[in-house]
Amino acid sequence: MRPTIARVSLPVPLDRSFDYLIPAHLFPVIGGRVAVPFGPKTLIGIVTGFASESEFDKLKSVKEVLDHEPLWPESLFQLLNWCSQFYQYPLGDTLANAMPSALKKGKPAQVEAIVEWYLTEEGRSQLMAGFSRAKKQAHALKLLEQGGLTREALGDEGISPSVIKALEEKAWIEAQSRLPKIQPWGKQVERDVDKPKLNEEQAVAIASVNNRQGYGCFLLEGVTGSGKTEVYLNLIKPVLERGQQALVLVPEIGLTPQTIERFASRFNVSVTVVHSNLNETERLNAWLAARDRACGIVIGTRSALLTPFADLGIIIVDEEHDSSYKQQDSLRYHARDVAIMRANKEAIPIVLGSATPALETLHNARSGKYSHLHLTQRAGAAKPTTNKVLDIKGLYLEGGLSAPLIAEMRKHLEAGNQVLLFLNRRGFSPALMCHECGWIAECQRCEAYYTYHQNSNEIRCHHCGSQRPVIHQCHGCGSTHLVTVGVGTEQLEAQLNSLFPDYSAIRIDRDSTRRKGSLEEALESIRNNEHQILIGTQMLAKGHHFPNVTLVALLDVDGSLYSSDFRASERLAQLFIQVAGRAGRASKRGEVILQTHHPEHTLLQALLTQGYGQFADTALQERKMAQLPPFSFLTLFKAEANDNQMVEQFLRQVRHTLEAHPLFSQSDVVLGPTPAPLSKRAGKYRWQLLLQTQSRSQMQRLLSSAKPAINMLPLAKKVRWSLDIEPQDLS
Ligand code: ADP
Ligand code: ZN
Ligand code: ZN
Repeated sequence: MRPTIARVSLPVPLDRSFDYLIPAHLFPVIGGRVAVPFGPKTLIGIVTGFASESEFDKLKSVKEVLDHEPLWPESLFQLLNWCSQFYQYPLGDTLANAMPSALKKGKPAQVEAIVEWYLTEEGRSQLMAGFSRAKKQAHALKLLEQGGLTREALGDEGISPSVIKALEEKAWIEAQSRLPKIQPWGKQVERDVDKPKLNEEQAVAIASVNNRQGYGCFLLEGVTGSGKTEVYLNLIKPVLERGQQALVLVPEIGLTPQTIERFASRFNVSVTVVHSNLNETERLNAWLAARDRACGIVIGTRSALLTPFADLGIIIVDEEHDSSYKQQDSLRYHARDVAIMRANKEAIPIVLGSATPALETLHNARSGKYSHLHLTQRAGAAKPTTNKVLDIKGLYLEGGLSAPLIAEMRKHLEAGNQVLLFLNRRGFSPALMCHECGWIAECQRCEAYYTYHQNSNEIRCHHCGSQRPVIHQCHGCGSTHLVTVGVGTEQLEAQLNSLFPDYSAIRIDRDSTRRKGSLEEALESIRNNEHQILIGTQMLAKGHHFPNVTLVALLDVDGSLYSSDFRASERLAQLFIQVAGRAGRASKRGEVILQTHHPEHTLLQALLTQGYGQFADTALQERKMAQLPPFSFLTLFKAEANDNQMVEQFLRQVRHTLEAHPLFSQSDVVLGPTPAPLSKRAGKYRWQLLLQTQSRSQMQRLLSSAKPAINMLPLAKKVRWSLDIEPQDLS
């Protein structure tokens, strides 16, 4: 019997679906879009089920059916449902998150036709006759002699829309629209290119993955340059030969033209790139290309994970430890974790590559949940770096630099090499203080100090973005004797210019690379040796290779060793290995120096003397003792509002709701509420509450069951609150 009611998920922040009557002339499908009335508006939602009766009366009717087939393949639709449950995020919002915005607005789920301009007979004869009066027009005709071109392609050649219009009016050219051709690729998927002969470890890794039928999760551990990408390419080849597709996820900073080129030049298949800066049409066409098998490989950042595929054969997650895989707002998913779930649901292999695997991943590999593959040899054989900690206790620091480090820098610079300095703090100095009374300039809207930016002569809050002209007088005692406290990249740059006037220093941070294209320019000038001293925040650590850098120094690692975020030391270790992997090359041994007040720190010692593996062992032991992830599972409740007490009270009630719940078990722990590490931001007071469970399934059961009760708390509507499942950032 034909169902009379459609259950529809709408992009509204409510944990429920809505029922609509299906008019006789409409035929909605599960997983397809419908337009429905919602209050005074019309919304586009996804049909998630059918029913013959509803608990609500006076149902409104579906207005329009937009899709006659589901938008997602069944397995991906199930995955999205799982995401919604696991991350405790409304299904309607989750589905909206997974749709290109063109589809959210109701555009058809079809490739948009490409319009190209062609010469007419008349145009061709003009060209023959040597038409040359109007230069631009003649140039356009010449360009079109070989075949059709789009408006954009003509624009790239300097042909303006008015020239096109003039030619069209003379009927010398005409527009024809065509759909992009879907060309299934042939058997010969690999181009005829030079490929390195695989080493033994690579061959073993490839065979291990290929021998697995169905789902399997593999950790491919190998330093930069050990040949991981070569393994990926070899794994993708048989997938394409079977007519299946591959998904390659890379961290935000890793999606460079070089990376894309590696894949595009190897195979005779179309490669689609997905990242957050695509425009609406590009994003829709990329989504459709994968769905309709018009492309063999999708390479992209986090959001590419939710691309539908006609027939996905393998997933690769490069730099799996990278924090950009976790979305920090709305649907707070971790693309690596969801990718593993996707591979599982689609019964295909997934390969996680990294030189510095996340501790969670290592734990899973060591406990046998994932297969652990190693690449230990570095192709091109750069020598390992010499690493040392520099004890700066009691040493005088000039702009953050100790005398032994300055001496070491001089040696490397005089040998004609480059030096790279890391300091994860932008601006001139992180605080401005009164020398007479100790008063510190504080943001009015945040519980945070202003950062002093000398270049723009401003003080800025790095949390809410507020900025004001620098102050010259203490607000406490009126003294004009204000001093800077601490060192930021700007000050370091100024200091270096005076210490090393004969060498050029360049600073790369968010302030210096605001303009589009400026980062690429800076990187290019470094490769051309226009600068000898490179100053950077974390931005400079990833994805870039500087063969002339022989000395890398991390100026201030103490903050990471003693942070309120238990993952800070793991990130420091990853940063350290990453930069060590960039320093030096075959002919020049690199050196890495860490300045610290705590040279004896266990984790630091393990890392420097025995490497990342030993560091990970030590860190995992500490996590086990403290019952931190991966030995427990965390959920972070965050809340904020203008009224401080109200926020605290709300989280107290959440705590009570959880603890009083019948599913709350003896081994579950609730910590807090406590003020968030940044306790006030942009005028709002912020608190948090941490739930710790022994298993993921317990976390799921408890939250799913307790959340309706939390939603019912009267304060739940008065404060802004959210749930972060398995949070990555606790600072
Ligand atoms: P990773 O992805 O681990 O950084 P790549 O796969 O990019 O490593 O390899 C680094 C360099 O070494 C590349 O230029 C690659 O072509 C080369 N390479 C990889 N495997 C081999 C091999 N077995 N023999 C020789 N060169 C190799
Ligand atoms: Zn602020
Ligand atoms: Zn003062």
